[in-house]
Amino acid sequence: MLIDAHAHLDFKDFEKDLNLVIKRFNGIIIQNSVDYESMKKTLDISEKYENVKAALGIYPLKCLKLTEKELNEKLNFIKKNKNKIIALGEIGIDLKESSEEKKQIKNLKKFIRLSEEIKKPMIVHSRKAEDLILEVLKDTKSKVILHFYSGNVTQVKKALEYGFYFSVPTIISNSKNLKKLIKIVPLNRILTETDCPYLSPTKEKRNEPVNVKHTISVIAKIKNVSEKEVENQIYKNYKNIFE
Ligand SMILES: [Zn+2]
Repeated sequence: MLIDAHAHLDFKDFEKDLNLVIKRFNGIIIQNSVDYESMKKTLDISEKYENVKAALGIYPLKCLKLTEKELNEKLNFIKKNKNKIIALGEIGIDLKESSEEKKQIKNLKKFIRLSEEIKKPMIVHSRKAEDLILEVLKDTKSKVILHFYSGNVTQVKKALEYGFYFSVPTIISNSKNLKKLIKIVPLNRILTETDCPYLSPTKEKRNEPVNVKHTISVIAKIKNVSEKEVENQIYKNYKNIFE
Protein backbone atom coordinates (compact mmCIF):
# COMPACT_ATOMS: atom_id res chain seq x y z
CA MET A 1 0.00 0.00 0.00
CA LEU A 2 1.52 3.31 -1.09
CA ILE A 3 1.15 6.53 0.91
CA ASP A 4 0.86 10.10 -0.35
CA ALA A 5 0.93 12.02 2.92
CA HIS A 6 0.59 15.48 1.40
CA ALA A 7 -1.64 16.24 -1.58
CA HIS A 8 -3.86 19.11 -2.75
CA LEU A 9 -6.51 17.31 -4.77
CA ASP A 10 -8.95 20.18 -4.33
CA PHE A 11 -6.88 22.45 -6.60
CA LYS A 12 -8.17 23.46 -10.04
CA ASP A 13 -5.57 21.27 -11.74
CA PHE A 14 -7.60 18.19 -10.81
CA GLU A 15 -11.04 19.55 -11.65
CA LYS A 16 -11.44 17.53 -14.82
CA ASP A 17 -10.07 14.12 -13.90
CA LEU A 18 -9.97 13.81 -10.11
CA ASN A 19 -11.74 10.49 -10.28
CA LEU A 20 -9.08 8.96 -12.53
CA VAL A 21 -6.20 10.48 -10.58
CA ILE A 22 -7.45 8.89 -7.37
CA LYS A 23 -8.33 5.57 -8.99
CA ARG A 24 -4.98 5.01 -10.65
CA PHE A 25 -3.20 5.34 -7.31
CA ASN A 26 -3.09 2.14 -5.33
CA GLY A 27 -2.73 3.63 -1.90
CA ILE A 28 -3.85 6.16 0.70
CA ILE A 29 -3.83 9.91 0.06
CA ILE A 30 -3.86 12.55 2.79
CA GLN A 31 -5.62 15.56 1.32
CA ASN A 32 -4.34 18.78 2.96
CA SER A 33 -6.37 21.98 2.93
CA VAL A 34 -4.89 25.48 2.54
CA ASP A 35 -7.81 27.77 3.48
CA TYR A 36 -11.46 27.67 4.50
CA GLU A 37 -12.84 26.90 1.01
CA SER A 38 -10.25 24.20 0.67
CA MET A 39 -11.24 22.75 4.06
CA LYS A 40 -14.79 22.25 2.86
CA LYS A 41 -13.60 20.65 -0.38
CA THR A 42 -11.21 18.45 1.57
CA LEU A 43 -14.06 17.08 3.68
CA ASP A 44 -16.15 16.48 0.53
CA ILE A 45 -13.39 14.61 -1.30
CA SER A 46 -12.51 12.48 1.71
CA GLU A 47 -16.13 11.57 2.21
CA LYS A 48 -16.46 10.54 -1.41
CA TYR A 49 -13.30 8.42 -1.72
CA GLU A 50 -12.45 5.78 0.81
CA ASN A 51 -8.70 5.98 0.23
CA VAL A 52 -8.58 9.78 0.67
CA LYS A 53 -8.14 10.98 4.27
CA ALA A 54 -8.63 14.56 5.37
CA ALA A 55 -6.13 16.91 7.00
CA LEU A 56 -7.50 20.34 7.84
CA GLY A 57 -5.33 23.40 8.18
CA ILE A 58 -4.55 26.82 6.77
CA TYR A 59 -1.40 27.59 4.81
CA PRO A 60 0.76 30.01 6.87
CA LEU A 61 0.59 32.84 4.33
CA LYS A 62 -3.19 32.56 4.08
CA CYS A 63 -3.35 32.53 7.86
CA LEU A 64 -1.64 35.93 7.95
CA LYS A 65 -4.56 37.44 6.08
CA LEU A 66 -7.08 36.42 8.74
CA THR A 67 -8.04 38.46 11.77
CA GLU A 68 -7.70 36.76 15.12
CA LYS A 69 -11.45 36.29 15.25
CA GLU A 70 -11.53 34.74 11.78
CA LEU A 71 -8.71 32.35 12.62
CA ASN A 72 -10.48 31.28 15.80
CA GLU A 73 -13.62 30.57 13.76
CA LYS A 74 -11.62 28.35 11.39
CA LEU A 75 -10.06 26.53 14.33
CA ASN A 76 -13.54 25.93 15.68
CA PHE A 77 -14.61 24.56 12.32
CA ILE A 78 -11.74 22.07 12.48
CA LYS A 79 -12.63 21.12 16.04
CA LYS A 80 -16.23 20.54 15.03
CA ASN A 81 -15.06 18.18 12.29
CA LYS A 82 -12.41 16.39 14.32
CA ASN A 83 -14.00 12.99 13.79
CA LYS A 84 -13.71 13.35 10.04
CA ILE A 85 -10.00 14.12 9.92
CA ILE A 86 -6.76 12.28 10.63
CA ALA A 87 -4.42 15.28 11.00
CA LEU A 88 -3.97 19.04 10.98
CA GLY A 89 -2.39 20.27 7.74
CA GLU A 90 -1.24 22.22 5.95
CA ILE A 91 0.10 24.45 8.70
CA GLY A 92 3.52 25.94 9.42
CA ILE A 93 5.84 28.88 8.93
CA ASP A 94 7.05 30.43 5.67
CA LEU A 95 9.70 33.13 5.94
CA LYS A 96 10.55 33.03 2.25
CA GLU A 97 7.32 34.68 1.15
CA SER A 98 6.71 36.70 4.31
CA SER A 99 8.86 38.21 7.03
CA GLU A 100 6.06 38.37 9.60
CA GLU A 101 7.74 35.96 11.92
CA LYS A 102 5.99 36.79 15.20
CA LYS A 103 2.49 36.50 13.84
CA GLN A 104 3.27 33.24 12.06
CA ILE A 105 4.63 31.75 15.28
CA LYS A 106 1.55 32.89 17.15
CA ASN A 107 -0.74 31.37 14.53
CA LEU A 108 1.13 28.08 14.45
CA LYS A 109 0.95 27.86 18.23
CA LYS A 110 -2.83 27.98 18.00
CA PHE A 111 -2.77 24.98 15.71
CA ILE A 112 -0.37 23.17 18.04
CA ARG A 113 -2.74 23.72 20.96
CA LEU A 114 -5.66 22.48 18.88
CA SER A 115 -3.76 19.39 17.76
CA GLU A 116 -3.02 18.52 21.38
CA GLU A 117 -6.61 19.13 22.36
CA ILE A 118 -8.15 16.97 19.63
CA LYS A 119 -5.19 14.56 19.61
CA LYS A 120 -4.28 14.73 15.93
CA PRO A 121 -0.83 14.76 14.32
CA MET A 122 0.38 17.86 12.46
CA ILE A 123 1.63 18.03 8.87
CA VAL A 124 3.97 21.00 8.88
CA HIS A 125 5.32 23.27 6.16
CA SER A 126 8.56 25.17 6.76
CA ARG A 127 10.46 27.36 4.36
CA LYS A 128 13.45 29.46 5.35
CA ALA A 129 12.44 28.57 8.89
CA GLU A 130 14.23 25.27 9.39
CA ASP A 131 15.57 26.09 12.88
CA LEU A 132 12.60 28.11 13.98
CA ILE A 133 10.06 25.38 13.16
CA LEU A 134 11.95 22.88 15.35
CA GLU A 135 12.09 25.42 18.18
CA VAL A 136 8.35 26.11 18.04
CA LEU A 137 7.39 22.43 17.80
CA LYS A 138 9.90 20.73 20.07
CA ASP A 139 7.75 20.55 23.20
CA THR A 140 4.51 19.44 21.64
CA LYS A 141 2.90 16.20 22.72
CA SER A 142 1.45 15.73 19.24
CA LYS A 143 3.11 13.78 16.47
CA VAL A 144 4.86 15.98 13.93
CA ILE A 145 5.37 15.27 10.24
CA LEU A 146 7.75 17.70 8.58
CA HIS A 147 6.61 18.03 4.99
CA PHE A 148 9.38 18.65 2.44
CA TYR A 149 11.84 19.64 5.13
CA SER A 150 15.05 21.04 3.72
CA GLY A 151 17.21 21.49 6.77
CA ASN A 152 20.87 20.55 7.03
CA VAL A 153 22.29 17.46 8.74
CA THR A 154 22.42 19.09 12.19
CA GLN A 155 18.82 20.25 11.92
CA VAL A 156 17.61 16.87 10.67
CA LYS A 157 19.33 15.13 13.57
CA LYS A 158 17.71 17.52 16.01
CA ALA A 159 14.29 16.80 14.49
CA LEU A 160 14.94 13.08 14.86
CA GLU A 161 15.78 13.60 18.52
CA TYR A 162 12.45 15.34 18.97
CA GLY A 163 10.74 12.29 17.48
CA PHE A 164 9.53 13.99 14.30
CA TYR A 165 8.76 12.26 11.01
CA PHE A 166 9.84 13.33 7.54
CA SER A 167 7.58 13.24 4.55
CA VAL A 168 9.66 13.07 1.40
CA PRO A 169 8.42 14.64 -1.83
CA THR A 170 8.61 13.27 -5.37
CA ILE A 171 11.27 15.73 -6.48
CA ILE A 172 13.81 13.71 -4.52
CA SER A 173 15.27 12.48 -7.80
CA ASN A 174 16.50 16.04 -8.48
CA SER A 175 17.53 16.99 -4.97
CA LYS A 176 20.92 16.27 -3.43
CA ASN A 177 19.79 17.63 -0.10
CA LEU A 178 16.82 15.28 0.12
CA LYS A 179 19.00 12.31 -0.73
CA LYS A 180 21.34 13.31 2.08
CA LEU A 181 18.34 13.49 4.40
CA ILE A 182 17.24 9.96 3.46
CA LYS A 183 20.69 8.68 4.35
CA ILE A 184 20.44 9.85 7.94
CA VAL A 185 16.74 9.36 8.63
CA PRO A 186 15.82 5.79 9.60
CA LEU A 187 13.12 4.11 7.51
CA ASN A 188 10.70 4.05 10.44
CA ARG A 189 10.60 7.89 10.40
CA ILE A 190 9.90 8.33 6.71
CA LEU A 191 6.66 8.99 4.83
CA THR A 192 6.21 9.70 1.12
CA GLU A 193 4.29 12.59 -0.41
CA THR A 194 3.74 14.47 -3.66
CA ASP A 195 2.54 17.99 -2.68
CA CYS A 196 0.63 17.60 -5.95
CA PRO A 197 -0.16 19.39 -8.21
CA TYR A 198 3.22 20.96 -7.32
CA LEU A 199 6.74 19.53 -7.24
CA SER A 200 6.42 17.15 -10.16
CA PRO A 201 9.41 14.89 -10.78
CA THR A 202 8.93 15.67 -14.49
CA LYS A 203 9.34 19.36 -15.22
CA GLU A 204 6.26 21.38 -16.17
CA LYS A 205 3.95 18.43 -15.71
CA ARG A 206 1.26 18.22 -13.09
CA ASN A 207 2.27 16.05 -10.17
CA GLU A 208 -0.09 13.36 -8.89
CA PRO A 209 -0.14 10.61 -6.22
CA VAL A 210 0.91 7.82 -8.60
CA ASN A 211 4.39 9.43 -8.73
CA VAL A 212 5.06 8.31 -5.14
CA LYS A 213 6.48 5.12 -6.64
CA HIS A 214 9.51 7.06 -7.94
CA THR A 215 10.30 8.19 -4.41
CA ILE A 216 10.01 4.62 -3.15
CA SER A 217 12.54 3.50 -5.71
CA VAL A 218 15.02 6.28 -4.83
CA ILE A 219 14.71 5.50 -1.10
CA ALA A 220 15.20 1.76 -1.77
CA LYS A 221 18.43 2.46 -3.65
CA ILE A 222 19.82 4.75 -0.96
CA LYS A 223 18.88 2.41 1.88
CA ASN A 224 19.93 -0.65 -0.12
CA VAL A 225 16.70 -2.55 0.53
CA SER A 226 13.90 -3.73 -1.77
CA GLU A 227 11.15 -1.38 -2.92
CA LYS A 228 8.60 -3.67 -1.31
CA GLU A 229 10.37 -3.31 2.03
CA VAL A 230 10.31 0.47 1.77
CA GLU A 231 6.64 0.47 0.78
CA ASN A 232 5.69 -1.84 3.65
CA GLN A 233 7.63 0.15 6.24
CA ILE A 234 6.10 3.44 5.10
CA TYR A 235 2.63 1.92 5.33
CA LYS A 236 3.49 0.77 8.85
CA ASN A 237 4.67 4.29 9.70
CA TYR A 238 1.41 5.68 8.37
CA LYS A 239 -0.55 3.37 10.66
CA ASN A 240 1.64 4.19 13.64
CA ILE A 241 1.15 7.90 13.16
CA PHE A 242 -2.46 8.22 12.10
CA GLU A 243 -4.38 5.20 13.40
ZN1 LIG B 1 1.42 21.64 0.29
